[in-house]
Amino acid sequence: MKLIYAKYPGKCQHCGGKTDRNEEVWWAPGTGVFHQPCKAEAERAGNAPDTQHERLMQDPEYAQGVRDVEDYHFNRDTFGTEYAEAIQMEKEFNDQ
Ligand SMILES: [Zn+2]
Repeated sequence: MKLIYAKYPGKCQHCGGKTDRNEEVWWAPGTGVFHQPCKAEAERAGNAPDTQHERLMQDPEYAQGVRDVEDYHFNRDTFGTEYAEAIQMEKEFNDQ
């Protein structure tokens, strides 16, 4: 997780309250933002993204989503955006 100055207003993933533009908030890719005190609370409750690996073990659907994103990044970096998006679309099609 990273401490950032929010460029846009957002919603705290812990308390659901709003975060303001230019507010200093914690941010994690794929998760969203947390108020500073909320990040500490979420960590105590075991809901912070830093404990993501535990969720990966417990939630196969979530783990699959994470793998899909990793695949996408790999394909994009290796073969380009067009290829990565074609693969992703094919996957979504197969899921239905
Ligand atoms: Zn909050």
